Amino acid sequence: MSVKIKADECLGCEVCIDACPFPGAIIMKDGVAVLTDKCTGCGACAQSCAAEAIEVTKTEDKLAVDISEYKGVWVFIEQRDGHIANVALELLSEGRKLADELGVELAGVLLGENMEGLTRHCFAFGADKVYLADAPVFKDYRTDSYTDVIVAP
Ligand code: SF4
Ligand code: SF4
Repeated sequence: MSVKIKADECLGCEVCIDACPFPGAIIMKDGVAVLTDKCTGCGACAQSCAAEAIEVTKTEDKLAVDISEYKGVWVFIEQRDGHIANVALELLSEGRKLADELGVELAGVLLGENMEGLTRHCFAFGADKVYLADAPVFKDYRTDSYTDVIVAP
């Protein structure tokens, strides 16, 4: 995935800054939005731009993937209206057992808006760490934006 801001089409409204879940990934320079090296290329900001100044290009990664470089157990933390679904907490408990068997870390993946207060529940149910993407664009489940941020390189 590659993300580009078309400077000549940017209106300088700054909406994309609020939409981005990664602080400092997008800044204003001379009245135009600019991506920084903190940008993960997730593309989540594109939908927020009414001027369609953010261009996202999906690229096919043809490189062979060495799965031996991957480790850990992740559990997607389903939430609705700021409440974690019981099934997510049950999965965290099961994930804890699996992670212990494998000798790896257990991580919760939590997306939404104003979610920081919920991370403690993930830790209480066994997570070693929580990956949090917190922005208005994640308030309600949307396959595209959720997928993009989870699989961002
Ligand atoms: S939302 Fe679009 S128009 Fe507004 S600052 Fe960002 S890139 Fe520019
Ligand atoms: S592509 Fe993702 S990380 Fe980069 S500015 Fe947009 S929302 Fe933020």
